[in-house]
Formats: sequence, structure tokens, C-alpha cells
Amino acid sequence: MAMVQCAWCGGKGIDDSKLNSPCNVCGGDGFVNVPDPPTKCGRCRGTGKVTDSNSHRDEKCSGCGGSGWAS
Ligand SMILES: [Zn+2]
Ligand SMILES: [Zn+2]
Repeated sequence: MAMVQCAWCGGKGIDDSKLNSPCNVCGGDGFVNVPDPPTKCGRCRGTGKVTDSNSHRDEKCSGCGGSGWAS
């Protein structure tokens, strides 16, 4: 396993989209555990976000859950 930066919060551990509550992708650590070697999620290309086609808001990627990394 490898510790990599959480893409959803950018490693801050804070979810900016939810009024500064702890990031629930990484549990507030800013890092997530992924299999070694770390591989970026192909669906969101490592951003952890996909733009909803209806609301045009950033949503958590369904491929990686927002971490930006394949697991
Ligand atoms: Zn996070
Ligand atoms: Zn993804």
C-alpha cells in the first residue's frame, strides 16, 4: 500500500464544498491508502471530481469516490 494525497481536498483534510467540514473521502487525514504503485483514476484523470452534466457542479467521481486514485 502507498499513502497518496487525497484529490478531493487537495491534501488539506478539509472539504471546501461542505463549509470546511472534514473531508469524508480521506477521513480528514489528507491522504488515502491505495495499492502500490499508485494509479490515477482513469475516470476523473486523478482529479477526484466529475462535473455533473445537469447541475454543472463538481461531484465526487464514482470511479474512485473522490480520492483521485484507482483502488
Ligand atoms: Zn480528503
Ligand atoms: Zn476518479
